Amino acid sequence: MKIHEYQARDLLASYGISVPSGRVIDNAALAAGVFREVTAGMASPLAVVKAQVHAGGRGKAGFVKLVKSAQEAEDAARFMFSHRMHSPQTPPEGLEVNKVLIAQAVEIADRKGGGKEEFYLAITTDRASRRNTIIASREGGVEIEQVAHDRPEAIIKEPVHPMLGLQGWQARKIAFALGFTGKHVHQAADIMVKLARLYAEKDCSLAEINPLVITRADGAAESRVTAIDAKFNFDDNGLFRHPDLQAMADPSEENPAEAKAHHFGLSYIALDGNIGCLVNGAGLAMSTMDIIKLHGAEPANFLDVGGSASEQAVTEAFSIILSDRRVKGVLVNIFGGIMKCDIIAQGIINAASNFKNPDGSTGFKVPLVVRLEGTNVQAGRDLLASAKSKIPTMQAATDLTDAAKKVVAAVKG
Ligand code: GDP
Ligand code: MG
Repeated sequence: MKIHEYQARDLLASYGISVPSGRVIDNAALAAGVFREVTAGMASPLAVVKAQVHAGGRGKAGFVKLVKSAQEAEDAARFMFSHRMHSPQTPPEGLEVNKVLIAQAVEIADRKGGGKEEFYLAITTDRASRRNTIIASREGGVEIEQVAHDRPEAIIKEPVHPMLGLQGWQARKIAFALGFTGKHVHQAADIMVKLARLYAEKDCSLAEINPLVITRADGAAESRVTAIDAKFNFDDNGLFRHPDLQAMADPSEENPAEAKAHHFGLSYIALDGNIGCLVNGAGLAMSTMDIIKLHGAEPANFLDVGGSASEQAVTEAFSIILSDRRVKGVLVNIFGGIMKCDIIAQGIINAASNFKNPDGSTGFKVPLVVRLEGTNVQAGRDLLASAKSKIPTMQAATDLTDAAKKVVAAVKG
Protein backbone atom coordinates (compact mmCIF):
# COMPACT_ATOMS: atom_id res chain seq x y z
CA MET A 1 0.00 0.00 0.00
CA LYS A 2 1.13 3.52 -0.76
CA ILE A 3 0.21 6.76 0.96
CA HIS A 4 0.31 10.41 -0.05
CA GLU A 5 3.18 12.74 0.71
CA TYR A 6 1.13 14.78 3.18
CA GLN A 7 0.41 11.59 5.14
CA ALA A 8 4.06 10.55 4.88
CA ARG A 9 5.05 13.91 6.38
CA ASP A 10 2.70 13.36 9.31
CA LEU A 11 4.22 9.95 9.85
CA LEU A 12 7.76 11.39 9.82
CA ALA A 13 6.71 14.09 12.26
CA SER A 14 5.19 11.47 14.59
CA TYR A 15 8.67 9.88 14.82
CA GLY A 16 10.28 13.22 15.58
CA ILE A 17 11.69 13.86 12.11
CA SER A 18 11.33 17.54 11.30
CA VAL A 19 9.23 18.51 8.27
CA PRO A 20 8.01 22.00 7.30
CA SER A 21 4.36 22.53 8.20
CA GLY A 22 1.67 22.32 5.57
CA ARG A 23 -1.97 21.62 4.86
CA VAL A 24 -3.74 19.62 2.18
CA ILE A 25 -6.65 21.04 0.17
CA ASP A 26 -9.13 19.53 -2.29
CA ASN A 27 -10.21 22.77 -3.91
CA ALA A 28 -8.11 25.58 -5.44
CA ALA A 29 -10.30 28.22 -3.79
CA LEU A 30 -8.75 27.27 -0.44
CA ALA A 31 -5.16 27.79 -1.63
CA ALA A 32 -4.82 31.48 -0.83
CA GLY A 33 -5.97 31.05 2.77
CA VAL A 34 -3.64 28.13 3.37
CA PHE A 35 -0.74 30.04 1.81
CA ARG A 36 -1.25 32.85 4.34
CA GLU A 37 -1.55 30.36 7.17
CA VAL A 38 1.63 28.39 6.43
CA THR A 39 3.73 31.45 5.64
CA ALA A 40 2.54 33.51 8.62
CA GLY A 41 5.53 35.14 10.29
CA MET A 42 7.97 34.53 7.41
CA ALA A 43 9.98 37.63 6.49
CA SER A 44 9.63 36.80 2.81
CA PRO A 45 6.70 34.39 2.42
CA LEU A 46 7.58 31.29 0.39
CA ALA A 47 5.46 28.15 0.04
CA VAL A 48 5.50 25.07 -2.12
CA VAL A 49 2.40 23.76 -3.88
CA LYS A 50 2.55 19.99 -4.49
CA ALA A 51 0.16 17.62 -6.23
CA GLN A 52 -0.71 14.64 -4.04
CA VAL A 53 -0.68 11.57 -6.26
CA HIS A 54 0.76 8.11 -5.69
CA ALA A 55 3.65 8.73 -8.08
CA GLY A 56 6.90 10.62 -8.04
CA GLY A 57 8.58 12.76 -10.66
CA ARG A 58 6.23 15.61 -9.84
CA GLY A 59 8.91 18.29 -9.80
CA LYS A 60 9.96 17.70 -13.39
CA ALA A 61 6.32 17.41 -14.49
CA GLY A 62 5.52 20.91 -13.15
CA PHE A 63 3.45 19.60 -10.23
CA VAL A 64 5.73 20.96 -7.50
CA LYS A 65 5.82 24.73 -7.56
CA LEU A 66 7.46 27.32 -5.35
CA VAL A 67 5.15 30.31 -4.83
CA LYS A 68 5.63 33.72 -3.22
CA SER A 69 2.08 35.01 -2.93
CA ALA A 70 -1.46 33.85 -2.23
CA GLN A 71 -2.34 34.51 -5.87
CA GLU A 72 0.54 32.37 -7.16
CA ALA A 73 -0.48 29.59 -4.77
CA GLU A 74 -4.03 29.67 -6.08
CA ASP A 75 -2.91 29.69 -9.73
CA ALA A 76 -0.58 26.74 -9.16
CA ALA A 77 -3.28 24.77 -7.33
CA ARG A 78 -5.82 25.56 -10.05
CA PHE A 79 -3.41 24.29 -12.70
CA MET A 80 -2.79 21.03 -10.81
CA PHE A 81 -6.47 20.31 -10.16
CA SER A 82 -7.33 20.82 -13.82
CA HIS A 83 -4.52 18.85 -15.47
CA ARG A 84 -3.52 15.20 -15.35
CA MET A 85 0.04 14.63 -14.23
CA HIS A 86 2.38 12.70 -16.52
CA SER A 87 5.74 11.41 -15.32
CA PRO A 88 7.82 8.25 -15.87
CA GLN A 89 6.11 6.88 -12.75
CA THR A 90 2.49 7.41 -13.90
CA PRO A 91 0.45 5.26 -16.30
CA PRO A 92 0.49 6.58 -19.90
CA GLU A 93 -2.87 8.31 -19.45
CA GLY A 94 -1.49 10.23 -16.44
CA LEU A 95 -3.06 10.71 -13.03
CA GLU A 96 -5.87 12.98 -11.92
CA VAL A 97 -4.99 15.26 -9.02
CA ASN A 98 -7.60 15.29 -6.23
CA LYS A 99 -5.52 16.75 -3.43
CA VAL A 100 -2.85 19.43 -3.27
CA LEU A 101 -0.46 20.09 -0.41
CA ILE A 102 0.58 23.63 0.39
CA ALA A 103 3.58 23.64 2.68
CA GLN A 104 5.97 26.18 4.07
CA ALA A 105 8.94 26.14 1.71
CA VAL A 106 12.53 26.15 2.85
CA GLU A 107 15.51 27.85 1.26
CA ILE A 108 17.97 25.09 0.39
CA ALA A 109 21.62 25.89 1.11
CA ASP A 110 24.02 26.16 -1.85
CA ARG A 111 26.62 23.42 -2.08
CA LYS A 112 30.27 24.38 -2.36
CA GLY A 113 31.27 23.59 -5.92
CA GLY A 114 27.76 24.08 -7.30
CA GLY A 115 24.24 22.77 -6.87
CA LYS A 116 22.07 22.60 -3.79
CA GLU A 117 22.40 20.63 -0.56
CA GLU A 118 19.88 17.93 -1.55
CA PHE A 119 20.42 14.32 -0.41
CA TYR A 120 18.70 11.01 -0.98
CA LEU A 121 17.89 8.76 1.98
CA ALA A 122 15.88 5.55 1.86
CA ILE A 123 15.43 2.18 3.49
CA THR A 124 14.24 -0.92 1.74
CA THR A 125 14.70 -4.66 2.08
CA ASP A 126 17.67 -6.07 0.19
CA ARG A 127 16.64 -9.63 -0.60
CA ALA A 128 20.16 -10.67 -1.57
CA SER A 129 21.63 -9.84 1.85
CA ARG A 130 18.33 -10.51 3.66
CA ARG A 131 18.67 -7.22 5.54
CA ASN A 132 16.82 -3.97 5.63
CA THR A 133 19.29 -1.63 4.00
CA ILE A 134 19.90 2.10 4.08
CA ILE A 135 20.43 3.58 0.64
CA ALA A 136 21.78 7.11 0.58
CA SER A 137 23.35 9.54 -1.82
CA ARG A 138 24.81 12.99 -1.77
CA GLU A 139 23.12 13.57 -5.10
CA GLY A 140 19.49 13.63 -4.08
CA GLY A 141 16.67 15.54 -5.70
CA VAL A 142 14.88 14.78 -8.91
CA GLU A 143 17.55 12.79 -10.79
CA ILE A 144 18.25 9.95 -8.39
CA GLU A 145 17.29 7.17 -10.85
CA GLN A 146 19.77 8.62 -13.33
CA VAL A 147 22.52 8.81 -10.69
CA ALA A 148 21.91 5.18 -9.70
CA HIS A 149 22.10 4.15 -13.32
CA ASP A 150 25.09 6.19 -14.47
CA ARG A 151 27.22 6.26 -11.34
CA PRO A 152 26.30 3.49 -8.92
CA GLU A 153 29.39 4.40 -6.85
CA ALA A 154 27.57 7.60 -5.80
CA ILE A 155 25.06 5.45 -3.88
CA ILE A 156 25.92 4.35 -0.33
CA LYS A 157 24.42 1.16 1.12
CA GLU A 158 24.47 0.09 4.76
CA PRO A 159 22.72 -3.00 6.16
CA VAL A 160 20.52 -2.69 9.25
CA HIS A 161 20.92 -5.43 11.83
CA PRO A 162 17.57 -7.23 12.24
CA MET A 163 17.77 -7.33 16.05
CA LEU A 164 19.75 -4.20 16.89
CA GLY A 165 18.32 -1.80 14.32
CA LEU A 166 20.41 0.96 12.81
CA GLN A 167 23.21 1.79 15.25
CA GLY A 168 24.27 5.36 15.98
CA TRP A 169 27.80 4.74 14.71
CA GLN A 170 26.46 3.42 11.42
CA ALA A 171 24.23 6.46 10.97
CA ARG A 172 27.14 8.80 11.70
CA LYS A 173 29.34 6.88 9.28
CA ILE A 174 26.73 7.39 6.55
CA ALA A 175 26.31 11.06 7.45
CA PHE A 176 30.08 11.62 7.14
CA ALA A 177 30.16 9.71 3.85
CA LEU A 178 27.39 11.97 2.55
CA GLY A 179 29.54 14.99 3.37
CA PHE A 180 27.60 16.39 6.32
CA THR A 181 29.73 18.43 8.74
CA GLY A 182 29.37 19.95 12.20
CA LYS A 183 25.94 19.81 13.82
CA HIS A 184 24.39 18.55 10.58
CA VAL A 185 26.10 15.16 11.13
CA HIS A 186 24.15 14.61 14.31
CA GLN A 187 20.89 15.87 12.77
CA ALA A 188 21.18 13.65 9.70
CA ALA A 189 22.18 10.60 11.77
CA ASP A 190 19.26 11.18 14.13
CA ILE A 191 16.86 11.22 11.14
CA MET A 192 18.36 7.95 9.83
CA VAL A 193 17.96 6.14 13.16
CA LYS A 194 14.35 7.34 13.48
CA LEU A 195 13.54 6.41 9.88
CA ALA A 196 14.96 2.91 10.42
CA ARG A 197 12.79 2.49 13.52
CA LEU A 198 9.72 3.73 11.65
CA TYR A 199 10.50 1.33 8.79
CA ALA A 200 10.58 -1.68 11.09
CA GLU A 201 7.67 -0.73 13.34
CA LYS A 202 5.27 0.12 10.50
CA ASP A 203 6.14 -2.89 8.30
CA CYS A 204 7.33 -0.72 5.43
CA SER A 205 8.70 -2.08 2.20
CA LEU A 206 10.08 1.34 1.25
CA ALA A 207 10.70 4.51 3.26
CA GLU A 208 12.23 7.28 1.22
CA ILE A 209 13.14 10.90 1.89
CA ASN A 210 14.10 12.66 -1.32
CA PRO A 211 15.32 15.24 -0.92
CA LEU A 212 16.70 15.52 2.56
CA VAL A 213 18.10 19.05 2.57
CA ILE A 214 20.29 21.45 4.47
CA THR A 215 18.39 24.70 4.85
CA ARG A 216 20.06 28.05 4.34
CA ALA A 217 20.62 29.99 7.53
CA ASP A 218 18.79 33.29 7.74
CA GLY A 219 18.65 35.92 10.44
CA ALA A 220 15.83 34.17 12.29
CA ALA A 221 16.80 30.52 11.96
CA GLU A 222 19.92 28.40 11.98
CA SER A 223 20.72 26.11 9.10
CA ARG A 224 19.37 22.58 9.74
CA VAL A 225 18.75 19.20 8.12
CA THR A 226 15.12 18.59 7.17
CA ALA A 227 12.95 16.35 4.96
CA ILE A 228 10.95 18.07 2.22
CA ASP A 229 9.54 15.06 0.36
CA ALA A 230 8.76 11.55 1.55
CA LYS A 231 7.34 8.37 0.15
CA PHE A 232 6.32 5.12 1.85
CA ASN A 233 5.21 1.71 0.68
CA PHE A 234 3.86 -0.73 3.24
CA ASP A 235 3.82 -4.50 3.13
CA ASP A 236 0.16 -5.41 2.53
CA ASN A 237 0.65 -8.60 4.54
CA GLY A 238 1.44 -6.54 7.63
CA LEU A 239 -1.41 -4.06 7.26
CA PHE A 240 -3.81 -6.00 9.46
CA ARG A 241 -1.82 -4.91 12.51
CA HIS A 242 -1.77 -1.21 11.58
CA PRO A 243 -5.28 0.28 11.66
CA ASP A 244 -3.69 3.74 11.57
CA LEU A 245 -2.10 2.95 8.20
CA GLN A 246 -5.22 1.25 6.83
CA ALA A 247 -7.08 4.49 7.50
CA MET A 248 -4.67 6.30 5.16
CA ALA A 249 -5.58 4.20 2.10
CA ASP A 250 -6.91 6.24 -0.80
CA PRO A 251 -9.05 4.05 -3.10
CA SER A 252 -9.17 6.79 -5.75
CA GLU A 253 -5.43 6.25 -6.33
CA GLU A 254 -5.74 2.51 -6.91
CA ASN A 255 -6.04 0.85 -10.28
CA PRO A 256 -9.82 0.03 -10.29
CA ALA A 257 -9.27 -3.39 -11.86
CA GLU A 258 -6.63 -4.27 -9.26
CA ALA A 259 -8.93 -3.11 -6.44
CA LYS A 260 -11.81 -5.22 -7.77
CA ALA A 261 -9.54 -8.26 -8.11
CA HIS A 262 -8.37 -7.82 -4.54
CA HIS A 263 -12.00 -7.74 -3.40
CA PHE A 264 -12.63 -11.15 -5.00
CA GLY A 265 -9.40 -12.69 -3.70
CA LEU A 266 -7.69 -12.65 -7.09
CA SER A 267 -4.10 -11.51 -7.66
CA TYR A 268 -4.18 -9.25 -10.69
CA ILE A 269 -1.47 -7.05 -12.12
CA ALA A 270 -2.04 -5.12 -15.33
CA LEU A 271 0.80 -5.26 -17.89
CA ASP A 272 1.37 -3.75 -21.33
CA GLY A 273 0.64 -6.55 -23.82
CA ASN A 274 -2.59 -7.74 -25.45
CA ILE A 275 -3.03 -11.36 -24.31
CA GLY A 276 -5.08 -11.69 -21.15
CA CYS A 277 -4.05 -14.60 -18.91
CA LEU A 278 -6.27 -16.45 -16.47
CA VAL A 279 -4.19 -18.91 -14.52
CA ASN A 280 -4.18 -20.68 -11.16
CA GLY A 281 -0.99 -20.38 -9.16
CA ALA A 282 1.71 -17.74 -9.39
CA GLY A 283 4.30 -20.17 -10.77
CA LEU A 284 2.00 -21.26 -13.57
CA ALA A 285 1.16 -17.60 -14.24
CA MET A 286 4.86 -16.81 -14.63
CA SER A 287 5.48 -19.71 -17.00
CA THR A 288 2.36 -18.79 -18.97
CA MET A 289 3.67 -15.25 -19.45
CA ASP A 290 7.08 -16.66 -20.43
CA ILE A 291 5.67 -18.97 -23.05
CA ILE A 292 3.51 -16.22 -24.54
CA LYS A 293 6.65 -14.10 -24.91
CA LEU A 294 8.58 -17.07 -26.31
CA HIS A 295 6.01 -17.33 -29.09
CA GLY A 296 6.29 -13.67 -29.94
CA ALA A 297 3.52 -11.84 -28.08
CA GLU A 298 3.14 -9.94 -24.79
CA PRO A 299 0.86 -10.72 -21.82
CA ALA A 300 -1.72 -8.06 -20.89
CA ASN A 301 -1.85 -9.06 -17.25
CA PHE A 302 -0.96 -11.48 -14.55
CA LEU A 303 -4.08 -12.98 -13.04
CA ASP A 304 -3.90 -15.78 -10.52
CA VAL A 305 -7.31 -17.08 -9.45
CA GLY A 306 -5.63 -18.99 -6.62
CA GLY A 307 -5.79 -22.61 -5.61
CA SER A 308 -9.51 -22.87 -4.97
CA ALA A 309 -11.45 -20.22 -6.85
CA SER A 310 -15.24 -20.35 -7.02
CA GLU A 311 -17.27 -20.12 -10.23
CA GLN A 312 -18.05 -16.55 -9.30
CA ALA A 313 -14.37 -15.67 -8.92
CA VAL A 314 -13.72 -17.04 -12.41
CA THR A 315 -16.59 -14.97 -13.80
CA GLU A 316 -15.19 -11.85 -12.10
CA ALA A 317 -11.72 -12.69 -13.37
CA PHE A 318 -13.01 -12.61 -16.95
CA SER A 319 -14.80 -9.34 -16.45
CA ILE A 320 -11.57 -7.82 -15.07
CA ILE A 321 -9.41 -9.12 -17.92
CA LEU A 322 -11.87 -8.05 -20.60
CA SER A 323 -12.38 -4.60 -19.09
CA ASP A 324 -8.88 -3.85 -20.42
CA ARG A 325 -9.55 -2.65 -23.96
CA ARG A 326 -6.07 -3.69 -25.08
CA VAL A 327 -6.88 -7.37 -24.60
CA LYS A 328 -7.19 -9.03 -28.02
CA GLY A 329 -7.15 -12.64 -26.85
CA VAL A 330 -7.36 -14.64 -23.62
CA LEU A 331 -5.40 -17.69 -22.57
CA VAL A 332 -6.89 -19.79 -19.77
CA ASN A 333 -4.27 -22.10 -18.34
CA ILE A 334 -5.42 -24.21 -15.42
CA PHE A 335 -3.73 -27.07 -13.67
CA GLY A 336 -6.39 -28.54 -11.41
CA GLY A 337 -5.05 -29.75 -8.10
CA ILE A 338 -7.32 -28.60 -5.32
CA MET A 339 -9.01 -26.54 -8.03
CA LYS A 340 -11.37 -28.66 -10.12
CA CYS A 341 -11.40 -28.28 -13.90
CA ASP A 342 -15.20 -28.60 -14.12
CA ILE A 343 -15.60 -25.59 -11.78
CA ILE A 344 -13.34 -23.56 -14.07
CA ALA A 345 -15.24 -24.75 -17.14
CA GLN A 346 -18.56 -23.76 -15.59
CA GLY A 347 -17.08 -20.40 -14.64
CA ILE A 348 -15.99 -19.81 -18.25
CA ILE A 349 -19.46 -20.72 -19.55
CA ASN A 350 -21.19 -18.44 -17.03
CA ALA A 351 -18.79 -15.62 -17.77
CA ALA A 352 -19.39 -15.97 -21.51
CA SER A 353 -23.16 -15.97 -21.19
CA ASN A 354 -23.21 -13.00 -18.81
CA PHE A 355 -20.48 -10.86 -20.33
CA LYS A 356 -21.78 -7.57 -21.71
CA ASN A 357 -19.82 -5.91 -24.49
CA PRO A 358 -19.66 -2.12 -24.77
CA ASP A 359 -22.06 -2.33 -27.76
CA GLY A 360 -24.68 -4.06 -25.57
CA SER A 361 -24.30 -7.57 -27.01
CA THR A 362 -23.48 -10.54 -24.75
CA GLY A 363 -20.75 -13.17 -25.07
CA PHE A 364 -17.02 -13.17 -25.70
CA LYS A 365 -15.85 -11.48 -28.87
CA VAL A 366 -12.12 -12.03 -28.39
CA PRO A 367 -10.46 -15.36 -29.15
CA LEU A 368 -10.25 -17.62 -26.13
CA VAL A 369 -7.82 -20.54 -25.81
CA VAL A 370 -8.35 -22.96 -22.95
CA ARG A 371 -5.89 -25.47 -21.62
CA LEU A 372 -7.19 -27.59 -18.74
CA GLU A 373 -5.30 -30.37 -16.99
CA GLY A 374 -5.69 -32.19 -13.67
CA THR A 375 -8.59 -32.95 -11.34
CA ASN A 376 -11.92 -33.59 -13.14
CA VAL A 377 -10.34 -32.64 -16.46
CA GLN A 378 -12.65 -34.82 -18.54
CA ALA A 379 -15.77 -33.37 -16.90
CA GLY A 380 -14.39 -29.88 -17.58
CA ARG A 381 -13.62 -30.61 -21.23
CA ASP A 382 -17.06 -32.17 -21.73
CA LEU A 383 -18.75 -29.09 -20.28
CA LEU A 384 -16.81 -26.80 -22.60
CA ALA A 385 -17.44 -29.01 -25.63
CA SER A 386 -21.18 -28.91 -24.95
CA ALA A 387 -21.06 -25.11 -24.69
CA LYS A 388 -19.04 -24.66 -27.89
CA SER A 389 -21.99 -23.13 -29.77
CA LYS A 390 -22.34 -20.46 -27.05
CA ILE A 391 -18.63 -19.56 -27.17
CA PRO A 392 -17.72 -19.66 -30.86
CA THR A 393 -14.36 -17.90 -30.33
CA MET A 394 -13.12 -20.69 -28.01
CA GLN A 395 -10.43 -23.22 -28.91
CA ALA A 396 -9.17 -26.07 -26.75
CA ALA A 397 -5.43 -26.63 -26.39
CA THR A 398 -3.67 -29.87 -25.57
CA ASP A 399 -0.62 -28.47 -23.80
CA LEU A 400 1.12 -25.23 -22.89
CA THR A 401 3.01 -24.82 -26.17
CA ASP A 402 -0.09 -25.59 -28.21
CA ALA A 403 -2.06 -23.07 -26.11
CA ALA A 404 0.53 -20.32 -26.54
CA LYS A 405 0.83 -20.89 -30.29
CA LYS A 406 -2.93 -20.82 -30.74
CA VAL A 407 -3.53 -17.64 -28.75
CA VAL A 408 -0.58 -15.81 -30.35
CA ALA A 409 -1.83 -16.82 -33.82
CA ALA A 410 -5.36 -15.70 -32.95
CA VAL A 411 -4.18 -12.31 -31.74
CA LYS A 412 -1.87 -11.74 -34.70
CA GLY A 413 -4.57 -13.22 -36.92
P1 GDP B 1 9.13 14.91 -6.64
O1 GDP B 1 9.68 15.52 -7.88
O2 GDP B 1 7.78 14.28 -6.89
O3 GDP B 1 10.07 13.98 -5.97
O4 GDP B 1 8.82 16.13 -5.62
P2 GDP B 1 9.75 16.85 -4.51
O5 GDP B 1 8.91 17.20 -3.36
O6 GDP B 1 10.96 16.02 -4.21
O7 GDP B 1 10.18 18.21 -5.19
C1 GDP B 1 11.03 18.25 -6.32
C2 GDP B 1 12.08 19.31 -6.16
O8 GDP B 1 11.46 20.57 -5.89
C3 GDP B 1 13.03 19.08 -4.98
O9 GDP B 1 14.09 18.22 -5.31
C4 GDP B 1 13.49 20.48 -4.69
O10 GDP B 1 14.56 20.83 -5.56
C5 GDP B 1 12.29 21.35 -5.06
N1 GDP B 1 11.58 21.70 -3.82
C6 GDP B 1 10.58 21.03 -3.20
N2 GDP B 1 10.21 21.63 -2.07
C7 GDP B 1 11.02 22.71 -1.92
C8 GDP B 1 11.16 23.74 -0.93
O11 GDP B 1 10.48 23.80 0.09
N3 GDP B 1 12.12 24.69 -1.17
C9 GDP B 1 12.92 24.67 -2.27
N4 GDP B 1 13.83 25.61 -2.41
N5 GDP B 1 12.81 23.72 -3.22
C10 GDP B 1 11.88 22.76 -3.05
MG1 MG C 1 11.17 13.94 -4.30
